[in-house]
Amino acid sequence: MAACKLLSRSWIAICLLAVSSLATAAVKPEPRNVVLVTLDGVRVQEMFGGLDVAVLQSALGKDRRVEDHDLYRRYWAATPEARRAKLMPFFWNTLMQQSGSIAGNPARGSRVQVSNRMRISYPGYAELLTGQARDADVTSNRKLRIPFPTVAEFVRRELALQPAQVATFASWETFDWIAEHTDGNTYVNAGFAPYPGNDPLIRQLDALQLQARAWPGERFDVFTQRFALAHLQRHRPRYLHIAYGNTDEWAHAGDYPATLQALALVDGYLQELWTWLQSQPQYRDRTTLVITTDHGRGNTPAEWANHNHDVEGAQNIWLAIVSPDDARRGEWHAAPTLQQNQVAATVAAALGLDYARQDPAAGQPIALQPPSR
Ligand SMILES: [Zn+2]
Repeated sequence: MAACKLLSRSWIAICLLAVSSLATAAVKPEPRNVVLVTLDGVRVQEMFGGLDVAVLQSALGKDRRVEDHDLYRRYWAATPEARRAKLMPFFWNTLMQQSGSIAGNPARGSRVQVSNRMRISYPGYAELLTGQARDADVTSNRKLRIPFPTVAEFVRRELALQPAQVATFASWETFDWIAEHTDGNTYVNAGFAPYPGNDPLIRQLDALQLQARAWPGERFDVFTQRFALAHLQRHRPRYLHIAYGNTDEWAHAGDYPATLQALALVDGYLQELWTWLQSQPQYRDRTTLVITTDHGRGNTPAEWANHNHDVEGAQNIWLAIVSPDDARRGEWHAAPTLQQNQVAATVAAALGLDYARQDPAAGQPIALQPPSR
């Protein structure tokens, strides 16, 4: 600046301009992170209304009183808002009130739908990770390599990240095939895969996940949670997808109490995840969470456990966004319908990336409402 003083008036103007643009360059926007969380096959009924007493009654049979059931005592309340807050207290009382919003409650005039015809898991994840329904290519849950690159692979390439910084932790083993088109592009830990390292607790969990098991192709979500959090601390990923799956397994088994308990556990995992993220300068107020599901399930007590192309209700999903770049809080009201194919572009946009560079035909990113600063 001292040199500027010696110059003529017009040179001073140019000099000041140069100094101010230098200052602008010095204030680079903080790098963003994104955490995608999926809860497999969670219906809008439970998400927005908690315990569905008609489903519980039908599960118990008409000779038993729902009021006597432990689940009723724990989760029943007179309004949907009070019931869901009993089931997922962190999600509703903290996350949605203080930091984010959720679309998809038909009672509020908001809908989120899958655009694939299948309404089952792999087609749902293919849609949300690649940005389009893939009805011609992904029609079942069979283990086949995803035929298109995913948003995870796009993020890694565009930001020139190490594979460990773009990570997927999934309870369902088929994510080995779903998470990436090119094997090894990103870090994937799915099913009963061990998590590497010398941490004695992790080594113990590795042994336990093989002993405490209920299904051939899926571990308990608690192991997915523990490994994902260990990875967050160790590798500090910019993109993390945590895919919880137990809600879907219990629902297919027709076990409504266990389905709700699995959802309540996920609420605790979200609290643990959020608390840790907010304790870290790299992540605090620089991380977008997108929380959603791969498909819905049937609407009625007869069909709540099922989902496929001809089960009515299975096309209806929900989607929550928690972002420092979005001012919305609570439930969306009277909003245009969102599609599952918008998730990939929304995740990319949260990192400042234009997903159309990978797939111009993918769903558009969900428009955010930036907070006034
Ligand atoms: Zn599913």
